[in-house]
Amino acid sequence: MNNVSSAAPAGPRRRDNPVVVVGGGVIGLCTAYYLAAEGVPVEIVERRSIGSGASWGNAGWVCLSHSAPVPSPGVIGYAARSLGRPDSPLYLRPRPDGQFLAWLWRFWRSSSPHRFRDGYQAVADLNRPTFQLFEEMAEAGIETTLHRPGMVHAFLTAGAAGHHLDIQRQMAAGRYEVPEEPVVGPSAHACDPALSPAVKAAYLVEGEGVVDPAAFVRALHAALGQAGVKVHENVEVTGFAGSSGPVEAVLTSQGEIACSGVVVAAGMRSVNLLGAMGLRLPLQAGKGYSFTVDLDPAPLHCLYFGERRVVASPMGGATRIAGTMELSGNNNRLDWRRIVAIARASRRYLGPWFDEPDDLMSLIRDPWVGGRPFLPDGLPVIDRVPGRENAYVASGHGMLGVTLGPATGRRLTEYVLTGRRPQALTPFRFDRLTS
Ligand SMILES: Cc1cc2nc3c(=O)[nH]c(=O)nc-3n(C[C@H](O)[C@H](O)[C@H](O)COP(=O)(O)OP(=O)(O)OC[C@H]3O[C@@H](n4cnc5c(N)ncnc54)[C@H](O)[C@@H]3O)c2cc1C
Repeated sequence: MNNVSSAAPAGPRRRDNPVVVVGGGVIGLCTAYYLAAEGVPVEIVERRSIGSGASWGNAGWVCLSHSAPVPSPGVIGYAARSLGRPDSPLYLRPRPDGQFLAWLWRFWRSSSPHRFRDGYQAVADLNRPTFQLFEEMAEAGIETTLHRPGMVHAFLTAGAAGHHLDIQRQMAAGRYEVPEEPVVGPSAHACDPALSPAVKAAYLVEGEGVVDPAAFVRALHAALGQAGVKVHENVEVTGFAGSSGPVEAVLTSQGEIACSGVVVAAGMRSVNLLGAMGLRLPLQAGKGYSFTVDLDPAPLHCLYFGERRVVASPMGGATRIAGTMELSGNNNRLDWRRIVAIARASRRYLGPWFDEPDDLMSLIRDPWVGGRPFLPDGLPVIDRVPGRENAYVASGHGMLGVTLGPATGRRLTEYVLTGRRPQALTPFRFDRLTS
């Protein structure tokens, strides 16, 4: 493993007890990886199996060009039009829940142009070293499965493509290359062999990447095992010893683990764990769905279906199709109508790969639902827990946990080791959520 920094060790490094990372998703695993690389004793506690949360069936994109926060100008109108429509890319199930309404209010406030711009800038800064970090992991022997075929943005109309490309050009601001113009007309669908002639405009952002997320998680798990990190699966963290001050022990379904520090990276369930420390983390699950299918021809690139906000990723010879943002409560209930809606939307861009929804059962594999942990401003929280000097939280990565996993783990490790918050983490402070 590579060293993160040569900063003088502080805190946990001087202590024998491990830093306990709660949650074996991509965020917890990456954090454990960088901590262990610095010689910090680490243990991971995972309530199910490693990667069993949102990190498993996602689309696997590792990208610069889709790293904008979800609350954006116009998104509220879009959400309002989708109210109660389960086939909409953004589905909001109205419910009389005070916390949800407060979340929506903050989401709306975060969608102003300047907050969106600031949020985008913050994520872009954190994201800057991402591909290099993936490369370093690969050099250290981790089979990240990352390849970088680029991302084709496909549209049914030239107008939609032009509009999207204009916005993307502004956001790229020299950080990544975008083409001058989309390819328009009958040749647009030639941008990727899987696209159908219904695609009337498309453009490629080169260099964007994709991993098989389950394989990436497994590879991290294996590397951590080799580095001597103890991983407790099927053990649930239920609380923390002491009600204030440093956390001396983590309470689990199988007893206590004495610790020198703790990192809460429990995805959606970080809410409960912060609650156990007396803090409210306003997370909502942005539920998304995916499934895998064999297409002929299969896509060569990551595909983004612009009008329908559905994506397709080349993965291990097959194609993973994913989409939807469903705000229907913090649960993992799979609504088959959403799978059908995604399949139907993809059919418009990929051509008739199925005849009718009843065929899907026999054509698709691994239908999956995952809860993206979402904070109302669309940014993660990566910070020390207020009032608990050796406790940290890394959650709320929304649509970007795979992309931002290595950068999060590395920056958080710097914070744990030095006791000083790295500049790149300033926008992801906890207190922005309480002010
Ligand atoms: C359909 C879909 C497509 C997506 N596509 C992409 C993409 O292309 N690129 C991208 O970057 N991101 C993507 N994402 C987002 C990405 O999946 C998430 O941001 C990421 O997986 C979050 O990782 P995490 O480690 O925070 O959470 P999780 O993966 O949910 O991990 C948290 C872990 O903590 C464990 N846990 C919870 N509570 C406890 C407890 N009390 N004790 C012990 N363990 C506990 C859970 O069991 C879980 O394994 C997508 C998400 C979805 C749903």
